[in-house]
Amino acid sequence: MLNGYYTIIGGRTGFADEGGSGRFTGAAFGRRLRNLVYFTRMRHPAIFRRTELMLGTPAMDALARTRAAVFGLGGVGSWCAESLVRSGIGKLLLVDSDRICITNVNRQLMATTKTAGQVKADVLARRLKEINPLVELDVRQQIYSPETAGEFALDEYDYVIDAIDSLREKAALIRHALSIPTVTLFASMGAALKMDPFQIRATEFRKVEGDGLARALRTKFRKTGGMPARKFKCVWSPERRENLGPTGAGCGLGECVCPKDPGVGESSLATHEWCSSKARINGTVAHTTAIFGFALAGLVVQDVERRARAAAAVIPEAAPSGTGCPPG
Ligand SMILES: [Zn+2]
Repeated sequence: MLNGYYTIIGGRTGFADEGGSGRFTGAAFGRRLRNLVYFTRMRHPAIFRRTELMLGTPAMDALARTRAAVFGLGGVGSWCAESLVRSGIGKLLLVDSDRICITNVNRQLMATTKTAGQVKADVLARRLKEINPLVELDVRQQIYSPETAGEFALDEYDYVIDAIDSLREKAALIRHALSIPTVTLFASMGAALKMDPFQIRATEFRKVEGDGLARALRTKFRKTGGMPARKFKCVWSPERRENLGPTGAGCGLGECVCPKDPGVGESSLATHEWCSSKARINGTVAHTTAIFGFALAGLVVQDVERRARAAAAVIPEAAPSGTGCPPG
């Protein structure tokens, strides 16, 4: 890992144009920008300089070696994935079966009026590669379910993030992740019908109170083999609100009518979307679903840092400073 990024870019510092003509071509400008982003005398790319100042080099080394799987790239999972990549995670598995619906725009990172109809996982992956072109991504437009669980090698990951909101699939993923001793699971409980950012917290699953999704999960577990043997931490909020808006037909209310290009993405999933299978669609806002996602990413980064410190068992090595952009 040592100087891995440095080796990849060959330690180039030169911003010289092609052939010494004195003019920058488009390609030369691209190379110049890439060098600015990656060239560093430090072990990690300059894009992570401020994170390295915060966490120290050993924790950044550990993050670069860390592999996480994010299931569900909606209002929670999309922000979680973004935050993990911006913090220097080495590898991400991104799993979501759906395309972007216009009703996702209110809360999902990659959902805009321009990307409606496109495959969620693909659009998010493009963005994450722009943030860190060296992050390793495994992008799957696929349904995770008890039937497809065998297609996901969770033992290849250190962390599994459950940001799924359909009960049957969520219960299956939690059981699957907890069955692998080397995997640490962090799960999101219900982020819909929550408005107050200051009520969001993280506790062990058994200590969650007043959350409808957690209650339904407990019932599901009891009916299907009992509560999981291992404990796991959840992000949740006790807040309870009711739907107030209109009901009817159309996007987000039972069916998606967004235009979809059947030639793009998984053809068997061209018209699939979870909304159709839900008994009720609940209201959401960006600031709470995003905080759920950021909190999940925070649990991962904190855990990686804690383990890196424990492994070093010494005062963390101070991050290098004094080069790069001025303070602030
Ligand atoms: Zn739609």
